[in-house]
Amino acid sequence: MKAAKIFTFLFLTMAAASSSPSPEIDGWTPSSLDQRRAIPNNSSAPERLSPLHELQPLSNDEGVIRRVKLPDGVKAVALTFDMCELDTNTTGCDMDVLNFLRERGLPATLFMGGKWMRTHSRRVKQIMNEGELFEIGNHNWSHGNCALLSPEGLKAQVLWTQSEYELLREESGATDIPDVPGLFRLPYGRNNERALKVIAGLGLRVIQWDVAAEAGDNSNPKRAARSARLVAGMTRPGSILLFHANLVPKGTVNLLRELVDILEGEGYEFVKVSELLEMGEPETVRDGYFSRPKDNYALDKKFGVDGTGRRKAFTGKP
Ligand SMILES: [Zn+2]
Repeated sequence: MKAAKIFTFLFLTMAAASSSPSPEIDGWTPSSLDQRRAIPNNSSAPERLSPLHELQPLSNDEGVIRRVKLPDGVKAVALTFDMCELDTNTTGCDMDVLNFLRERGLPATLFMGGKWMRTHSRRVKQIMNEGELFEIGNHNWSHGNCALLSPEGLKAQVLWTQSEYELLREESGATDIPDVPGLFRLPYGRNNERALKVIAGLGLRVIQWDVAAEAGDNSNPKRAARSARLVAGMTRPGSILLFHANLVPKGTVNLLRELVDILEGEGYEFVKVSELLEMGEPETVRDGYFSRPKDNYALDKKFGVDGTGRRKAFTGKP
């Protein structure tokens, strides 16, 4: 590196550090605060319980969207990443995944829990300022299971998340992103008929996946390469692929790196879910699942009484 270049590099690094809100977060460099459970848990309600901006209720409850049927010859898929945590714990933010997407210019849809957004608010505001690349969807406040929550509890899980997004959007200064998210992802992929009506009544479309990409630990690059070949084999034009970016599944970036290369080699382009929806006709089911109908029912008993990790039902009353 020449002296002038070194100077520029140092100057930019220092300038970025001095304008950063916290010395722990320097641009997009991973920080110790991004690690799993690095930030203490706070299960209180958001500052505002209802968003200022309310969406129009959807006239038809279209069900659970698993993929999009595209015109012949169109090869597009959507990469989606869930970023979530329970009422009873905090998770993390997978900067390797975010930085990989940014470096390669890969658009993605990020389904964020409202409580997760608050825990990782500085990251969310950075993401909001890259609205060209990243679109944010609603993934309930604290991972409430839509098949188990009361209608009031479900409403609060959705609206508290809309509110948190709105608060962070105001703070971020980002103006070219939607007022509130219009896409929703079911925690655990679980729902019932009543939940579909409540969510449609709040104006959000339910987006699941047809390819659950992470099966187990991909920290070993050889294993990740094997997983990538399997996932590529399940991917079709119009597929919606599920990943996580909260550091719960391990080695997601290894899988992603291999998979993107394979799919690009096969001529696929990557688009956000909202763009994919505009390109064709959604394929839906009435009851969400991972890979086979009902394969997620067993999760109903594993995370507290209603998916939030709590022993008492989430009612939405702070
Ligand atoms: Zn989740």
